[in-house]
Amino acid sequence: MIHLENASKTYQTADGPVHALAEISMDVPPGEFVVVRGPSGSGKSTLLTLVGGLSRPSSGRVIVAGEDLRLLNASARARFRAERIGFVFQTFHLVPYLTVVENVAVAALPDSKGAVRRRASALLEEFGLGHRLNHRPAELSTGECQRVAIARAMFNRPKLILADEPTGNLDSDNAGTVLTLLADFHRLGGTVLLVTHQEFSPGDAQQRTVTLREGRIESATTSASVSRSCR
Ligand code: ADP
Repeated sequence: MIHLENASKTYQTADGPVHALAEISMDVPPGEFVVVRGPSGSGKSTLLTLVGGLSRPSSGRVIVAGEDLRLLNASARARFRAERIGFVFQTFHLVPYLTVVENVAVAALPDSKGAVRRRASALLEEFGLGHRLNHRPAELSTGECQRVAIARAMFNRPKLILADEPTGNLDSDNAGTVLTLLADFHRLGGTVLLVTHQEFSPGDAQQRTVTLREGRIESATTSASVSRSCR
């Protein structure tokens, strides 16, 4: 699903170049749950932006779902993101003036309006948010906001979800709910790349942990499956 080959990213700044990622190579097969850890500034978010096609590597190859992202122009990468990837962010990124159901439907690929709304409502019901469909984000708790954001990420049935500190703003109960939703997605065959600097409780064991330090992979370990441990 994800193939990185000597992928590097250097940002040019007024103070000179910043080498955020240095020749990273890794493979994530379909259906794997990978947790990327590392201290602040180690390159975790940069890695997600490369895999998500939000930016291009300075050198090396980034192949996701069979697409060599370095070869796609900005509009092709935008289409790739919309069709293939679900994004979840620490700060939710919900549109404040849209209702919950509209926030989920906003991600929809072309389809009839009625069908989109019905499908968004059904997904939100599944996520325990059926009573919130017509509320706006300001009326929701942070845990509910993140559930809406995950529904939006899953709406187009992507095979890959990229999550950047998705539990960073949540208490432990809500963090557990979010991890369970991601584990369910994984159990049904989805691939997850989750960036965090938090420690999960032992019940939230994951399949693989990759630790970054100063833009390089410091270690990679494999442990019990998320789907098994979150059931
Ligand atoms: P992490 O997510 O692990 O905190 P980042 O990927 O955000 O790490 O950042 C890695 C390094 O790249 C840091 O030194 C950061 O300051 C730098 N960096 C990140 N984004 C940019 C940018 N857009 N322009 C310049 N430097 C950046």
